[in-house]
Amino acid sequence: MTQPASQPTPPSIPEALAHVRADFPILQRQVHGKPLVYLDNAASTQKPQHVIDTINRYYANENSNIHRGVHLLSTEATGAYEEARGKIARFLNAADDSEIVFTRGTTESVNLVAHSFVEPRLQPGDEILISAMEHHANIVPWQLLCERTGAKLKVIPVTDDVDLDLSTFDELLNERTKFLSLTYVSNAIGTVNDVKPLLAQAKAQGVPTLLDAAQAVQHMPVDVQELGCDFLVLSGHKIYGPTGIGALYGRRELLDGMRPYQGGGDMISHVTFEGSTFKEPPSRFEAGTPHIEGAIGLGAAVDYLSGVGLEAIHDYESQLIDYAVAKLSEVDGLRIIGNPRNRSGAISFTMGEAHPHDIGTVLDTEGVAIRSGHHCCEPLMQRLGVPATARASFSLYNTPEDVDTLAAALKKTSLLFM
Ligand code: PLP
Repeated sequence: MTQPASQPTPPSIPEALAHVRADFPILQRQVHGKPLVYLDNAASTQKPQHVIDTINRYYANENSNIHRGVHLLSTEATGAYEEARGKIARFLNAADDSEIVFTRGTTESVNLVAHSFVEPRLQPGDEILISAMEHHANIVPWQLLCERTGAKLKVIPVTDDVDLDLSTFDELLNERTKFLSLTYVSNAIGTVNDVKPLLAQAKAQGVPTLLDAAQAVQHMPVDVQELGCDFLVLSGHKIYGPTGIGALYGRRELLDGMRPYQGGGDMISHVTFEGSTFKEPPSRFEAGTPHIEGAIGLGAAVDYLSGVGLEAIHDYESQLIDYAVAKLSEVDGLRIIGNPRNRSGAISFTMGEAHPHDIGTVLDTEGVAIRSGHHCCEPLMQRLGVPATARASFSLYNTPEDVDTLAAALKKTSLLFM
């Protein structure tokens, strides 16, 4: 007699995360008459009341331009902005607050490093090393840089399971390599790369490094000193904070030697028509009026994350992802893309010949929000032989019931397409 297949066991929600759903007002809303199941967190997370209140309070009480005013509001706004910088520095365990530059997000942070740090160090024939699982934000700035300088872009391949294929790493990282820029966690597949030894090897060979942590810092504790990266980049909107704000961490010694990225107010010491001198980092890299409430909101978001606890978030989300992999594996015709050794945040899949957009559209009618497309990873999709995937991505407020709703909605979808 065949045994019935054992049912995957749903994780229980630990005390630290027991009440988080109530912190996110949007989770109460309905979509097409169904309760919202939000599984598009890798694209952008929802915002807790604490972040919304912090931004409202700023506009209601402190709103003013920063750094240039002597009046009380300006002093308070400046204090709140700089306090937020300190929060990000502690969140990442940076050695000093001045190692945090506010940017528009991961994309602008990578472009800043490409322009201000890497470009002046490049000669024709030099190489920049990235991987085949990078987001376009960690590909295109380097391609543009290579076009400007005559440098070459080199790519660490990935295995069929979508782990980094390190069999040729020792040759790829060589005396021509002038920069290594890697993603910590793949947004498309969820692969968590074991970056520490790679960063260490680069350091030993004198190659500066950047870690794209856009999909990492919301899922696990990240310590820039422990990791040993030179730069680390993140986006606020993916970590429960506002859009249009992000951060660049850079080792102070390196920031000190970098040219400005953009010119304008607030980044200068003196301006004459004959020439200008620039402030110390981080001001040197923050030209013009910054996204003040964004920075303050991002500070509130990291407070929120730290309050819940990254260890607890990581433990719970890992169990939830395992549960989701098991539940999705039960759906007829569904193929999970990639089987990385360590996964965080996202699961990509296809279903027979169904277009991922059609899968996403059917799920939407069930109140389930996922993403479909190439996830800004066209080269990875080409490597995997798929034009697009459907992607469910998870966060601290998702529950085993969300996974059950997703799996049930996918079973319905498979009846339509298979
Ligand atoms: N890098 C990774 C791994 C991402 O997931 C994303 C966004 O999806 C980015 C970079 C770009 O982030 P942003 O659009 O916020 O600049």
